[in-house]
Amino acid sequence: MRIPIDSGAGTASAKASDRTILAVALVVCAAIVAMGAFALLAAERVDASARQRWTGVVADALQGKVGLLQRDLASFAHWDESVLRTAYFLDVDWVHRNYGKWLRDQDHHDRSYIVLDTSVAYAAIDGEKVAGEQAIFDGDALMPFVYDVQKAVAGRSGRNDGAAAGLQGNAPSAFRAGYVRVEGRPALVGAISITPDYGRVIAPEQIPPVAVTVLFIDDHFLNSLARELRIAEPTVSLQPPAADRHGVAIPFAAGESQPAWLVWKPDTPGTALLHALLPALMATTVLLLVAAAGVLWYARRATRNLAASEAYASRLAYVDPLCGLANRAMLMRVLGDRLARLEGDGHRLAVFFLDLDGFKDINDTLGHHVGDVVLAEIGARLKALTMPGLLASRFGGDEFVILVPVGDTPGEVEAIGNTILEAVRRPTSIGGQALVVGGSIGATVAPADGGEASELIRLADIAVYRAKADGRGVMRRFEPRMEHEVRQRREIETDLQRAMRDNELTLFYQPQFSADGRTVIGFEALLRWIHPSRGLISPGEFVPVAEQSGLISELDLWALRRACEQAGDWGAARVAVNLSPVDFRMRDLAGAVRKILEETGFPAERLEIEITENLLLGNQPEAFASLTALRNMGVRVALDDFGSGYSSLGYLRRFRVDTIKIDRSFIQNIGQTDDAAAIIDCVVRLARALAITVTAEGVETREQLRYLQSVGCHHVQGYLLASPMPVSSLGRYLDQVKRVREYAVIRHAEV
Ligand code: C2E
Ligand code: CA
Ligand code: CA
Repeated sequence: MRIPIDSGAGTASAKASDRTILAVALVVCAAIVAMGAFALLAAERVDASARQRWTGVVADALQGKVGLLQRDLASFAHWDESVLRTAYFLDVDWVHRNYGKWLRDQDHHDRSYIVLDTSVAYAAIDGEKVAGEQAIFDGDALMPFVYDVQKAVAGRSGRNDGAAAGLQGNAPSAFRAGYVRVEGRPALVGAISITPDYGRVIAPEQIPPVAVTVLFIDDHFLNSLARELRIAEPTVSLQPPAADRHGVAIPFAAGESQPAWLVWKPDTPGTALLHALLPALMATTVLLLVAAAGVLWYARRATRNLAASEAYASRLAYVDPLCGLANRAMLMRVLGDRLARLEGDGHRLAVFFLDLDGFKDINDTLGHHVGDVVLAEIGARLKALTMPGLLASRFGGDEFVILVPVGDTPGEVEAIGNTILEAVRRPTSIGGQALVVGGSIGATVAPADGGEASELIRLADIAVYRAKADGRGVMRRFEPRMEHEVRQRREIETDLQRAMRDNELTLFYQPQFSADGRTVIGFEALLRWIHPSRGLISPGEFVPVAEQSGLISELDLWALRRACEQAGDWGAARVAVNLSPVDFRMRDLAGAVRKILEETGFPAERLEIEITENLLLGNQPEAFASLTALRNMGVRVALDDFGSGYSSLGYLRRFRVDTIKIDRSFIQNIGQTDDAAAIIDCVVRLARALAITVTAEGVETREQLRYLQSVGCHHVQGYLLASPMPVSSLGRYLDQVKRVREYAVIRHAEV
């Protein structure tokens, strides 16, 4: 069954955080773009206002030139001397010195003329005096100024007709100026009437002479403008200024058809500032971007990690990491849900509590890593079970709980339990070794056994105890009396220590015979607990409890000492004592045994210790060292319950034992299954080949005995021959045996 775990939670929150991060990144980028745009806009604004200012300044300067022109001209034209030397007689040299050349030197006037009435009386072309009739004179451009001036003077004298000559003599010059094309070139033209200043000379009655001067807007003009205004690269253009230039239209006088512009390279303080700041701005932007990217990256990684660990945590919260099954929390949730739904629909739900058999031994002897592999393998098998609605979970340690909905069919729960057990029992291959791990199951069924999740599990756990006590590898349904048994088990735990102190423990001895079933060759010492209220308790009940609580070593050494004390004078008979794998974790087991042998005076050769296969399976150097030390002392080592566990002979190579005790489950199957007989035959042959003694335990029928004799088994032990008995009965028993044997010998002789 797929475990419905919300693994999407982590990814969803990761996506949400991604979106937030993206949004923040966009905002940061937008802010940077806006900043850039704002800087550009600000630069543009500054440039535009500079442009406006400069256009005004240049336009004003062009107008200002007119004023300057008037000042220059007036200094010559408003002068008695000038009237005298132009209107009364033309003193060309004087005029040239004081007017044409002077203006040229002063302000680089290009053309200077004196016009008398309508004809040019004097001309200076580029500062050179030229005879009036030969001079270049653009009358079309210049004469309108002359006429204007003459008209102005005439108008004024008309108005002042009755005025005193003195006053008239003081009249200011009439002045006209403007921008026009002269000889096809843009130029500033000024015209002024020549009038007296102090009146020492009387103005002529006729039209006064007019001084006309021309300043071409040429390099000289432009350069002086550039110097004055600090504008760059001024030129005259017939086109309006291009985008990268500033310009003002030359303010031509009305009637000028072809416009022209004064154009210069613009001063762009905004752009200049931007250019100056650009590297710093860029560096700041890059830094900002890097910092933002760093912060976002870190944030993203942090949220990713958080999301991942969230997902992992929510997975961990419901899945057992080792087995991949649902964990206990998940189980309780699902079980609770299903029980709640059960109330309505009249269905039943079976709860199987599976506990692995001998798992503790695997951990103890093979190591925890092997234990983990086994658990993972069992997990995989439970996962592979295909039953509708099945939920397999690891409850803890080597315990699993499996939920399966069931109907009313009788035997259905048992069938499912067996399917689970079979799946568990299949051999696992670990390090090339086949390992068989059995399991015991306790089962409860809801709603009959209970309606509450933890109660159903508790009762199923109780049923597992029963299954274990009934020989393991089986399933038991919960029955109310089992609760009583569990209580007893708990009591055993608390009682055992007291029992040892109060001498409630004793040893029974079960004789072991040679194959003929008559000659007693030794005894197996078996623990018994004579409980004051509960009577005789078998080791099957308290030994596992003692193993778990760690009391077992004390118990085993007590049994060993007791057996050595009691069996000291039983002739050559051997005594076999059981040791638990737990005992081999003791620091100096061999030393403890030696001490007991010395103190009791029991000969080592008569002692046999029985160990289980599990002990040899693990590669525990301490266990092997203890076993070797014991064998070196002369103590025999028997392998108990052979065949019941891992069914592998491989470990026999690792450690040499003296005896193999074939497990009673094989003996009891003689005559029942062909396998059992064949396996026994095989084991006996192998053991004989290796010079190992074979003991068959649990012999209950003559048929079994005969078969064991036929395959050549060395020794036999079982109820058929003798049950375990207290030491007090032993003397009488041995006498009896002796008598029977003697009788048999007599009968044999008689025949
Ligand atoms: P085990 O070592 O396999 O001992 C043989 C068990 O089989 C004994 O049970 C014995 O009473 C029983 N048995 C003997 N003949 C027959 C027969 O023909 N048929 C059947 N069905 N059973 C037979 P017991 O005495 O109850 O002991 C149970 C187990 O307790 C022993 O199994 C052994 O593993 C453990 N045990 C007994 N004494 C000690 C001890 O001193 N130390 C440790 N560590 N374990 C002990
Ligand atoms: Ca035994
Ligand atoms: Ca045995």
